[in-house]
Amino acid sequence: MVAIYKSLIKSQLLIGGNWCASSQSETFSVVNPATGELIAQVADATPIDAERAINAAVCAQPGWAEKTANERSWLLRRWFDLVMQNQEALALLLTSEQGKPLAESRAEIAYGASYIEWFAEEAKRNYGDVIPPLTNNQRIQVIKQPVGVVAAITPWNFPCAMLARKLAPALAAGCVILAKPAAETPLSALALGQLALDAGIPAGVINILPTTRAQAIGEVFTANSKVRKLSFTGSTLVGKKLIAQCAGDVKRITLELGGNAPFIVFDDADLDAAVTGAMVAKFRNAGQTCVCANRFYIHQAIYEVFCEKLAAAMQMLVLGNGMVEGVTTGPLISRSAANKAQAFVDDALQRGARLVYQGDVQTSATESFAQGHFFPPTLLAEVPQDARLAREEIFGPVAGLIRFSTEEQVIQLANASDYGLACYVYTRDVNRIHRLSDRLQTGMLGINTGLISNAAAPFGGIKQSGWGREGSHYGMDDYVNIKYLCEAFS
Ligand code: NAP
Repeated sequence: MVAIYKSLIKSQLLIGGNWCASSQSETFSVVNPATGELIAQVADATPIDAERAINAAVCAQPGWAEKTANERSWLLRRWFDLVMQNQEALALLLTSEQGKPLAESRAEIAYGASYIEWFAEEAKRNYGDVIPPLTNNQRIQVIKQPVGVVAAITPWNFPCAMLARKLAPALAAGCVILAKPAAETPLSALALGQLALDAGIPAGVINILPTTRAQAIGEVFTANSKVRKLSFTGSTLVGKKLIAQCAGDVKRITLELGGNAPFIVFDDADLDAAVTGAMVAKFRNAGQTCVCANRFYIHQAIYEVFCEKLAAAMQMLVLGNGMVEGVTTGPLISRSAANKAQAFVDDALQRGARLVYQGDVQTSATESFAQGHFFPPTLLAEVPQDARLAREEIFGPVAGLIRFSTEEQVIQLANASDYGLACYVYTRDVNRIHRLSDRLQTGMLGINTGLISNAAAPFGGIKQSGWGREGSHYGMDDYVNIKYLCEAFS
């Protein structure tokens, strides 16, 4: 199996179209979270490397921006084709470094590629505007120009898709990129970089810096005024630090941060559909998605039935190495992530929650779990609203159910969070859907569905879940400067 993706393993920095070692010749280990096996030693970028990459990007910027929209579109399309031609190899690589089941990795590669395809098309539609003037001797025009050099920092949970969502609109708009993938999962990003070169995307347009020095590299990106924008996906904690760092030269910033998604089921809902949606929204990627259902609010009239149905569905989950056929739930990214999930469960139980179901790590094991960071899918009922499960992002396969009795009450509960990324609602009442659409404080609302993300839709949050949108025609806005031309004529 390793042979299939071996040719896609790149272990050096990509700077100015060249694969190169770190300035200090240092490397770090990338390991399989399911087995603890070493996958690769990867060059560890230093601040000196980051400065070199900025200079390479600055050199590449004018040439890329001067290409016609059609030329950029064609290169992006070719890159999309190569990603999809290598879908299986990329998926195997992704599962090796991230741990998610192979079927989910295949889906992530297709999902990430769909942003490249979408923005290949959108590149040609980066329209400006002609605005009716207030006087007859004036013409008001609006043109859109690339922001310039963009720095992108991405997390480990979707190592391909989170990067593709930034690279594709940036390149479509005429920007060039410096990418810093997460230290746990740099290989998917580096493979995307190789395929971009193969597609003919010019040297220096995409530069990739794997590193264990996230803070130091982030400081170089944010301090350098040649970098005109930062796009960050990750925790709210780090996002807040980066906002402060970007204040120095008023750098533009897009933030895709943490969430605490409510999943609300009313008593008129199709319960089987709600359970299916809950399984996707909660257990995809072992609960490690920013839009994961984090708090389940279930109407008291259907509480017990929903709980039974969800527990039954959870019994079908198979915990194990994502490479093994039939496994639905992989390991968490680290031992500390598994410890955190356990602490959340303990906290809820101490506050009076009831353990309804917990998968068995031992009996569902298909491989040795000695080195993996596995946490069994767990269902808790009667979780109090003040439990950590309801207040903080879980990032693990733990579902906690909370009762509610009225629409007004559940709106108050759902909105009682500093986050506002995703929310899910199951009901058949169309009037209620409209009321909830107006009143729920969220960037995205899934109505009778647990899967909301796609390239045609604007992905993003409000409150402390972030600024800006990725995907859709809104996704280009963050990578362009608007210039207004005021022309007088007689
Ligand atoms: P994280 O700790 O904030 O790390 C994210 C990225 O930032 C990684 O590349 C990390 O590098 C880097 N980083 C860490 N500290 C930094 C610093 N001081 N300066 C510059 N970069 C720094 O988040 P995570 O735990 O990896 O990812 C999970 C979080 O991401 C969750 O909160 C999740 O909700 C959020 N997320 C949001 C979205 C969205 O679209 N809203 C999507 C996916 C994930 P290292 O890996 O080297 O530490």
